[in-house]
Amino acid sequence: MIRVAVSGAAGRMGETVCEAVGEAGDMELAGRADPTLDAPLAAALEGADVMVDFTTPEAAADNVRQALGAGVHAVVGTTGFGLDEIRAAAQAAVDGARCFVAPNFAIGAVLMMQLARQVAPHMPECEIVELHHEGKLDAPSGTAKRTADEVRESGGQVHEPIHSVRLPGLVAHQEVIFGGVGQTLSIRHDSTDRRSFMPGVLLAVRKVGQLPEPLTVGLETLL
Ligand code: NAP
Repeated sequence: MIRVAVSGAAGRMGETVCEAVGEAGDMELAGRADPTLDAPLAAALEGADVMVDFTTPEAAADNVRQALGAGVHAVVGTTGFGLDEIRAAAQAAVDGARCFVAPNFAIGAVLMMQLARQVAPHMPECEIVELHHEGKLDAPSGTAKRTADEVRESGGQVHEPIHSVRLPGLVAHQEVIFGGVGQTLSIRHDSTDRRSFMPGVLLAVRKVGQLPEPLTVGLETLL
């Protein structure tokens, strides 16, 4: 059994992760950490193999440092913080603990990014519109930033700014629009339920301990 500590356990994503871990036959919940529950991370990490973090841009890096310092692998979905903040902690992790970060754990979103990479060399002019629920703290989203990097690496020109829409009723959505002479091509992904992220999160929990590098980014590296 993989013992999983969930950081941000009272949040929208954290609650969904706790449910998914509870339903997985090969995992058990080692602890829940969240200020709302008055439950500190240190207690949740005791006896845990893997920490899953879905918190805030301000909290995530400290949580990762704490987990890796305690020899607990970290699976991180929180967006809006810089990877440079955790690189050193990943290099110095105790007992070979590994860190895995993904801006989006939904398979459809990963495919959207891969399709965008394929289109960019042929139709380089690109705009990105990301749409999320009104409680999302960071903008543009981690997925949008990652998509922009991938399109640019493939020869595309992503127009600035990336457009961020925040409205009640939305979960997590993105449209990547390419324009050429007399034609456009749109790739759209919609997460309409937070359960869309769970197969990716559980896959990362299962694989994080075997990763060859201290820090790995992107769900596509596990597929
Ligand atoms: P949320 O509902 O606001 O949940 C965040 C939770 O973390 C809150 O309960 C918050 O408590 C708690 N928290 C704050 N500081 C903490 C700390 N130091 N230790 C432990 N818990 C702490 O947010 P959400 O919608 O679940 O999203 C969480 C993050 O996941 C965001 O960065 C979002 O962009 C990201 N996300 C990623 C993916 C992906 O696939 N990678 C998908 C969806 C969302 P308080 O309310 O008391 O501050």
